[in-house]
Amino acid sequence: MATGYLWHELFGWHDTGTNTGLFPANPAAGLQPLQHFENAETKTRMNSLVGASGLLEHLVQLSPRPATDDELLRVHARQHVERIREESELPKGGDAGDGFSPFGHGGFEIARLAAGGAIVAAEAVMSGEVANAYALIRPPGHHATPDTGMGFCVFSNLAIAARHLQATDQASRIAVVDWDVHHGNGTQATFWEDPDVLTISVHQDNVFPPNSGAMDEQGAGAGSGTAINVPLPAGSGVGAYLEVFKRVVVPALDAFEPEIILVASGFDASAADPLARQMMTAGGYRQLTDSLLDAANRLCGGRIMMTHEGGYSPVYVPFCGLAVLEALSGHRTGIEDPFDPIFSGFAGQDLQPHQAEVIEAAAELAARLATG
Ligand code: ZN
Repeated sequence: MATGYLWHELFGWHDTGTNTGLFPANPAAGLQPLQHFENAETKTRMNSLVGASGLLEHLVQLSPRPATDDELLRVHARQHVERIREESELPKGGDAGDGFSPFGHGGFEIARLAAGGAIVAAEAVMSGEVANAYALIRPPGHHATPDTGMGFCVFSNLAIAARHLQATDQASRIAVVDWDVHHGNGTQATFWEDPDVLTISVHQDNVFPPNSGAMDEQGAGAGSGTAINVPLPAGSGVGAYLEVFKRVVVPALDAFEPEIILVASGFDASAADPLARQMMTAGGYRQLTDSLLDAANRLCGGRIMMTHEGGYSPVYVPFCGLAVLEALSGHRTGIEDPFDPIFSGFAGQDLQPHQAEVIEAAAELAARLATG
């Protein structure tokens, strides 16, 4: 069975405007106009490589539809949805909520197409239309909380897909693995008290949001213990990530026994990313994907659906994405990561003692899940 792949040209038209990385251009402050960090290139170039490499011919192309109001409202407060809709009508659009997350005129329609894309991809996996799926959607979603957008995210795409599967009885027990380098705070907030959704976020310690994603954030009420955070030290590389998956992620999945694994796939832990300080490689992401496929085959019929999140190197994100899609589909294109000889040679790519300490502590959270 094949791998589903979802993209729409409009995802490249989500307009974050002229910007100086994070800030509106401001000559008086020395901020020369350029692009926002979250610009179209990091995603359109991944889609281009998927096409140019020939991999697209081995994937099942899925088409997004806009998420309905009811589907958005399963996760978000009505006031948030209405504010985005209203600002989207303004000639120059608005901001998702924190002042760093601009969207252009008509941005509401693109954001709900991204959320609907996550739903379509998740349904295609659950129905057996495809074995697994990758939704290359934009704007990203994992920082958007029920009440507000933030961190370049408008609606919480993955969470909306998960709630949709639950509400339509397509799945009840769902695991979320978030390997974006930033904390998956919005997804975690959505399922904070839900014992049926396990959220695991592997991120760089205290990057974004500030003071979010510490290991003592573990869920509450009936959901107590079903949020796991692995805040890796800056400078973590492939060795640390493989150890996290071996010691924390896979044991937690084994203990939880989900019906589907949803992955918040950001490539901003890469060695080339401007918004974090980790050292992951395309080959590293390939190995993480293989480890999730092993777990999914054992636990839930191989069902994995990934939503695209961050990743801000326009030259490297495409190779990371291609590696993940090659792993998911089992098809190698013959395109090799040209950066690998450099990035894999960085000192500290293997597991370091101070990283192992953090992973050891997080492994106890996975073990606690197993013993209930
Ligand atoms: Zn990120």
